[in-house]
Amino acid sequence: ADLYGVNQWSGGYFQVAENGDATVLPRPGATDRAVSIAEVAEGIRARGFDMPVLLRIDNILDAQIESLNETCRTAMEELGYKGRFMGAYPIKVNQQQQVVEKIAEFGARYHHGLEAGSKAELIAAMGSMRDRNAVLICNGYKDEEFIDLGLYATKLGFTCILVVELPDELPLILERSKQLDAKPVLGIRIKLSTQAGGHWADSGGERSFFGLNTTQIIDAVDLLKGAGMLDCLKMVHYHLGSQISNIREIRTAVNEACRVYAGLAREGAAVEYLDLGGGLAVDYDGTQSNFLSSRNYTLKEYCTDIFEAVMTSLDEEGIPHPTIITESGRALVAYSSVLLFNVLDVTRFQAATLPATLPEGSPSSLEYMFQALKGLNIRNMQEVLNDVIFYRDETRRLFDNGKVTLRQRSLCEQIFWTTLNEIQNLSLELKHPGPESGELERVLADIYYCNFSVFQSLPDAWAIDQLFPVMPIHRLNEEPKRRGILADITCDCDGQIDQFIDKRGTRRVLPLHEVKPYEEYLIGVFLVGAYQETLGDLHNLLGDTNVVSIRILDKGAYEFVSEQEGDTVSDVLAYVQYDPKRLFNSFRQSAERAVREGRIAPQERRKIVAAYEAGLRGYTYFER
Ligand code: PLP
Repeated sequence: ADLYGVNQWSGGYFQVAENGDATVLPRPGATDRAVSIAEVAEGIRARGFDMPVLLRIDNILDAQIESLNETCRTAMEELGYKGRFMGAYPIKVNQQQQVVEKIAEFGARYHHGLEAGSKAELIAAMGSMRDRNAVLICNGYKDEEFIDLGLYATKLGFTCILVVELPDELPLILERSKQLDAKPVLGIRIKLSTQAGGHWADSGGERSFFGLNTTQIIDAVDLLKGAGMLDCLKMVHYHLGSQISNIREIRTAVNEACRVYAGLAREGAAVEYLDLGGGLAVDYDGTQSNFLSSRNYTLKEYCTDIFEAVMTSLDEEGIPHPTIITESGRALVAYSSVLLFNVLDVTRFQAATLPATLPEGSPSSLEYMFQALKGLNIRNMQEVLNDVIFYRDETRRLFDNGKVTLRQRSLCEQIFWTTLNEIQNLSLELKHPGPESGELERVLADIYYCNFSVFQSLPDAWAIDQLFPVMPIHRLNEEPKRRGILADITCDCDGQIDQFIDKRGTRRVLPLHEVKPYEEYLIGVFLVGAYQETLGDLHNLLGDTNVVSIRILDKGAYEFVSEQEGDTVSDVLAYVQYDPKRLFNSFRQSAERAVREGRIAPQERRKIVAAYEAGLRGYTYFER
């Protein structure tokens, strides 16, 4: 059985092999080229990299770019759409050089371009882009330097579109164009009244920060007309928000944008591009619904709907079909990275064997709990549960008043956990859920301490409760007998994952295997390629993880394409303005003082100082 719902969230890229390993495929359906992720993890270890590791699979990026472009092409053919489709990858979604370069490489055959939302991103994009037939979209607040860079790109022959996001930008762009003697290619970001639901959707709607309302659009047209530059206005752009789960909102927005596009065409603007922004969602939980972590449409539906909506609106107005641009980011990159980490320890909420009788002098609250446990049967579970909770609280109160000893309180906790476990076991015999079954499962869940930081590697899981698929990457042919939640190695109570994907929705505990002594138990968090890497922070000074990229070749062979070491302790200290050299010297002096005071021998000083130095050079995570 597909206990972890792999078939529902994998997008066809992940499977479980007969030997119980999770496997990755270079493209959906290419089962003969499946590669065991556990085997890759072993290879990573053998090359001297510790967990956690972010594993990137290059083929998936390639396949996703192909799938978006080909699905759009087919939709256009089927509908008789007369314009073109051009993608522009928004580099904010994953700015890592390797990722952006790969997208430029794999996207070349479709002239898939880039989108920059800041000066730094534009500089990254200009350095990564070669294809002058692709578009380079400049969004975001623009100062003079940003505008100049965009205009230089135009001079070099790139189709660099400066998107006016705020009314005040336009006069500055016109002035800089004159100064630099460059004819700008302009877009206007419009504010739509369509607003989408979901966490990321504040970019749309009339109260969105960016974009021009209709009055401001008309002002911009008049300004351009006055300057004799209305022919520079080539694009209409909007962005409704990311992860738009509901296709109806996407369609409504396209329709509204088309009306603005048509209006601008009538005003005499030389519009030829319609940029729909991002928003193409990823079905993280596989529910195919309009839940936050899902989407109620397929890629095929998305493409068909947008072209159809454009055709319907513009044909009515007799306006030629524009080149459609989308700035899909999440959907392109989410599948291509998997976070891998090892389990360091497990805590179980299960008592040791209880004594046959209670020790002499035990408080009566303890006696009552013990009796309740002894009398537990399938018919009185709720009553016993109520009793043990009541008397446990009573015993804790007595402890606070000094009437119960530490040993007695410990025994109380043990009776309590034993009772809960027994109720849980008895509940398995029932046809219907037992007393407080969900809650009981949650409080009895083991805690698996795992070598990663939620804040660094899965910030959206912490910040907005986004669901990511999580499962062990091996032993998947063994029944997982335990139920657990995952705690990371930050010492923060928010540093945990306690919401998981279930075939029927979400669940609070994850089925897990018992960790065997001396055997590594590895867990993977899937679909983490979008947004997580750069949104992550340095909580507890846990830095960037190691990153390894592979490329799957024929018949399941694969090669390690690149390895990037994660942050060292010294790196993360430098981020927060420490000078590691000064720290080292100061520590050396403390060690010397200890020698002077006769606490340690000089030889020992050497060892201690070397350990400190190795610590500075080492990985910020738990090392084996
Ligand atoms: N374009 C703009 C202007 C954005 O702000 C964003 C991100 O929210 C995107 C594109 C990418 O959106 P998505 O990752 O949903 O495709």
